[in-house]
Amino acid sequence: MNVLYFLRRLYVLFFFASVAVGAPTIIIDAGHGGHDRGGMPGQKLEEKGYALDVARRLDSVLRRAGYKTVMTRSDDTFVGLDERCAIANRYAGRGVFVSIHFNGADNPDAHGIETYYSSGSASLRLAQSIHSRVVRATGEIDRRVHSRGFRVLRGTRVPAVLCELGFLTNRGEARNIQSSSYRQRLADNVAAGIRSIYR
Ligand SMILES: [Zn+2]
Repeated sequence: MNVLYFLRRLYVLFFFASVAVGAPTIIIDAGHGGHDRGGMPGQKLEEKGYALDVARRLDSVLRRAGYKTVMTRSDDTFVGLDERCAIANRYAGRGVFVSIHFNGADNPDAHGIETYYSSGSASLRLAQSIHSRVVRATGEIDRRVHSRGFRVLRGTRVPAVLCELGFLTNRGEARNIQSSSYRQRLADNVAAGIRSIYR
């Protein structure tokens, strides 16, 4: 009797442990917001708005697929970098952090996809998984996966990546990013990169 009770308890424990490991909460971080427009000084297309749009699309794709998600911002408000980390760290051990940005450069010819992580094999794996899909889906130049100590990557105690989904300062890429079907494709492929690892 006692053994059975114990085994049942153990089963329940393992069941919930496997659910927790198998399906983490995805913390979706739309870069910038509020007075922080993102991008280069005087940049015509505001990074903050496009980042939020793709973050929202990513949120709905993942929710439809059955994931729990949290957004660090869901409208045009300013959220500090430490606050973004604090939100992610509520899910330490059961979360994954994905930050959505668009790139900008003084050189209008610069274009392509970059993905960042800070450290750790889980973050690197996630970065590669998302990066390869986004590059393939957009046909854009592969500017590779890089390790860099961005505050939201260093300060988060969960696997964390930052996606630079194209240059708003490049004419051709900006034209694509202004199309909602292209932004949906970006969100779909970031989601696919997450789903291939965290099922
Ligand atoms: Zn940014």
